[in-house]
Amino acid sequence: MTAARVGIIGAGQLGRMMALAGYPLGIRCLFVDTDANAPGGQVAPIRPAALDDLDALRGLARDVDVLTFDIENVSIDALERLNSITPVYPPPASVAVAQDRLAEKNLFASLSIPTAPFVPIDAPQDLECVGERLGWPVVLKARRLGYDGRGQRVVRAADGLAPAWESLGRVAAIAEGWIGFERELSLVAVRGAGGAQTFYPLTENVHADGILISSLAPYEHGELQATAESWLGQIMRRFDYRGVLTVELFQTREGLIANEMAPRVHNSGHWTIEGAETSQFENHLRAVLGWPLGSVALRGHTAMLNLLGRMPPALRLLAIPGAHLHDYGKEPRPARKLGHCTILDRDRNRLLGRLAELKRTVGMAD
Ligand code: AMP
Repeated sequence: MTAARVGIIGAGQLGRMMALAGYPLGIRCLFVDTDANAPGGQVAPIRPAALDDLDALRGLARDVDVLTFDIENVSIDALERLNSITPVYPPPASVAVAQDRLAEKNLFASLSIPTAPFVPIDAPQDLECVGERLGWPVVLKARRLGYDGRGQRVVRAADGLAPAWESLGRVAAIAEGWIGFERELSLVAVRGAGGAQTFYPLTENVHADGILISSLAPYEHGELQATAESWLGQIMRRFDYRGVLTVELFQTREGLIANEMAPRVHNSGHWTIEGAETSQFENHLRAVLGWPLGSVALRGHTAMLNLLGRMPPALRLLAIPGAHLHDYGKEPRPARKLGHCTILDRDRNRLLGRLAELKRTVGMAD
């Protein structure tokens, strides 16, 4: 049997972890990325090209069995064209929705999935009704191209709204009502050929300034797990989905609210590399190739800590028993995701103690 070949658009850390997961299975990954030195290139070849360079992408499509991506910000037109050469998964239509916060809200509403109340902002007069409809504070979010807290402003009173929109460049946006959540959760799901699907357990996430800091799994709550699974199941059916899908959620006193979806492997699922029988990366590859999905059974309780801005000394991290270090090989830059560390324990309380120690080791306040 010739090796399965997967083309990956974008060679960031997510692509790198996909290629790493494919290695033992004999899956050959091949990237296109603007940066010839992107992290994926440490594991599999990169063809340097702009991500909207159709000739380069067509060349990639011809040389692989299936195409996928590690970023959402890919031209939908390009994905659709490529789909006529080689299957593209997850489906381009799901990416189009995830690229636009308004389309995402409309999708959730059409499936009766609750979201934060919102007001679309296209013109200055749209700002006028925001306070009355949503109260304060609100979160102003650019409809497109926002990630890791970028393209977002928290606005606490009416007089801050116009300057906040100005500072976003007056782009099409939504103003979102403030959700006083108890905790942030996410659900990572995977759907393969013929509609086979499986769900990892809910993950509890801590963000600061819109950036994921740490994750803890499983978050054991049967009722919320069932609700979230039914939502992701519906979304995946809507698109005849293949691959990993993640939805970020807020847990409130009244129940779950969907914040946003990511049609790809997700930072809050990194713990699955050590914490589950089959990682989200391997399951994504299996799904897009139409292979049987792997077990998502747990190996214990897992904590994942993102390493942001600068890498702590590796030897200090590795001196912590059972710490698993992932260094993406990226240049340091403030708040940049450079790596992550995972620890596993059968006992949740003991794990929390070890996570606190890990945070101290990387110089983070507990
Ligand atoms: P997002 O880019 O939508 O994932 O938002 C980034 C982070 O900002 C979330 O993980 C939350 O911590 C926070 N956030 C976003 N929207 C809201 C909201 N409507 N109410 C309160 N916090 C929010």
